[in-house]
Amino acid sequence: MSISHIEHIGIAVKNLEESIRFYEDKLGLECYSIEEVADQKVRTAFFMVGQTKVELLESTDPEGPIGKYIEKKGEGVHHIAFAVDNIDESLKGLEEKGVRLIDQAPRKGAEGLDIAFLHPKSTHGVLMELCQDKKK
Ligand code: ZN
Repeated sequence: MSISHIEHIGIAVKNLEESIRFYEDKLGLECYSIEEVADQKVRTAFFMVGQTKVELLESTDPEGPIGKYIEKKGEGVHHIAFAVDNIDESLKGLEEKGVRLIDQAPRKGAEGLDIAFLHPKSTHGVLMELCQDKKK
């Protein structure tokens, strides 16, 4: 498995528009994309920071993963996403090493990336996402 960089950091927020204003007005970053990912019941907003992105996640459904997360823990850092060169092989390798996967196979995430989550119980408490841009 080969990780090239941190693709993005996912941050759970209550209100996407208010949060975007903070990142733009206070931090001087620019939101370049807003996208709804129906599958995960979220609306996302993206900011480029070097080669890493900040992904803000607002729930569109209280029963969705981000809705439940905010209900339990409030706003904050939700997950960290690593860019890998081969997501299928990476998942297979991790499973063989006994790492608990949330997604056995990659699915489509925001920005057309193939993504899969690793269970935080297996990663010392961090929800980790692997992603691969298969368009490249
Ligand atoms: Zn993510």
